[in-house]
This record gives sequence, structure tokens and C-alpha cells, in this order.
Amino acid sequence: MITFFTVVFDFFFVIAFALAAVLLKTIDGRGFLASVLVGLAIITGGGFNWFVVVAVFFVLGVAFTLYKYGYKKKLGGAQEKGGARNWPNILANGGIASVIAVLNLFSPSATLAATFVGAVSASAADTAATELGLLSRGRPRLITNPAKLVNPGTSGGVSWLGFAGAFFASLVIGAIAFAFGVLPGIVTLLVLCAVGGVAGAVVDSLLGALVQRRGYCPVCLKPTEALSHCGERTRPTGGVTFIENNVVNVLATVAGAAVSLSLYLAIIH
Ligand SMILES: [Zn+2]
Repeated sequence: MITFFTVVFDFFFVIAFALAAVLLKTIDGRGFLASVLVGLAIITGGGFNWFVVVAVFFVLGVAFTLYKYGYKKKLGGAQEKGGARNWPNILANGGIASVIAVLNLFSPSATLAATFVGAVSASAADTAATELGLLSRGRPRLITNPAKLVNPGTSGGVSWLGFAGAFFASLVIGAIAFAFGVLPGIVTLLVLCAVGGVAGAVVDSLLGALVQRRGYCPVCLKPTEALSHCGERTRPTGGVTFIENNVVNVLATVAGAAVSLSLYLAIIH
């Protein structure tokens, strides 16, 4: 039951979590506002247990990003600004989960919970695959043409370590979702999260290989998929101009959510 007290508690809890993230320099100022927005949507629509799942995804993402950060930076594949998330990144990773939570506010159901864990798993799987894939010893292979080796950090590049990371992160989301009672049944949750998460990561790589905007930095001349590099807007060299990394993330999250939803309706439900 939603009472005045729970609303106030939720509000302060979300603010405190986002504030801690700012103080730890894992999000910037506007990222704080985006996080509070996403956090409030999720805690209000899904409840405290849904918020914990997203919070664990966030902490997991930060941990994966900072793991061997110096090495990844030398490689040229590390996230900019010490891995701090900005607002488009937060909305890209938390937007779909927020929409599902808002739907759940009006009509709560186990089906929506299954869709929600699929979306969060896809985001977690993506982040883990990207960050762990950079540490792969062999060069990544292009998902659309495995005979072709690409540079670490190239969108569409895949490695076994990246897949293992995607799988592991999805299982962590499933285990947390079970521990906090998002859905009953540990096997149900692990299967939903593993399949939805890995599917999301695969879709992310496919879109990365096929349509994602490619470009280069006008300052350091390095090829990059980021919209800005060295403080300058990057110049496009290929792909679809408006499909940059955050758009790909949203689409991959939708794919993960859709796969978990279908799986839940078809097999488990
Ligand atoms: Zn640059």
C-alpha cells in the first residue's frame, strides 16, 4: 500500500542514492537529475525491490567500467571522464525500465515484472560485455562476419570474454531479483534474465555492426563511436547518423525486454 510515509521514504532514498553516486563521481550534475527521475519512476511503479535491482545494475556497471580502467584507457576503449555516466546514458539504460515501472503502477502484474528484469538484464549484459570484452586477449571478431578481426572497442566486435560477462551480469540481476522477491522462482528468474540479457547484448552488437554511427575525433584523429571526444564533436564516417551508442542501448534494452516477456508468456506462464 502506498502511504504518505512510503512516498517520503522512497523520495529520500532515491535522492540519497543519486547523491552518493555524484559524490563518488560516477554521475555528473545532469546525470543526478536523470537518475532521480529514473529512480522515482522505478521505486513508485515497481516498489523498493525493483529499485534495488536497478541500483545493483548501476553499481555493477560502475564496477565493470572501473575494473582495469587504466589499461582500457591506454587501449583507447575506456569510457570518457573516468566512466562517469551522463544524462543521455542514464536515460538510455534506465528509460525502458522506467516506462515498464510506470505501466506497473497502473496495472501491476508478474508479466510486467518479467519484462522489467529482461530490460535491466539487457542493460547489465551490454555494459559487462563492453567492459570485459575490452580485456579480451585475442582481438574481437565482427558479429556479422566472425572471420573478420576488429580493434577492441569497435561496435559489433564480440569476444568470448564479452559473452561470459553478459551471461554473468544477467545471472547477478536474476539472483538479486529473486532475493528481493520481484518474481517467485529462482530458475524462472535466472532463465528470464540470462536469455533476455544475452539476447539484448547480441542485438546491441548486431546494431553496432550494421547501423551504428561511426566517426573519428577531429583532435586526436582516433576512430570513435562517441558523439564527442577530446572535447570536440566527432565527425561521422559511416552508419546511420542518428543511431549513436545511446540509441543502440535503448533498442537493445527493448529487445531484451521483449525476449523475456515472450519467454515468460510462452514457456513459464
Ligand atoms: Zn580525441
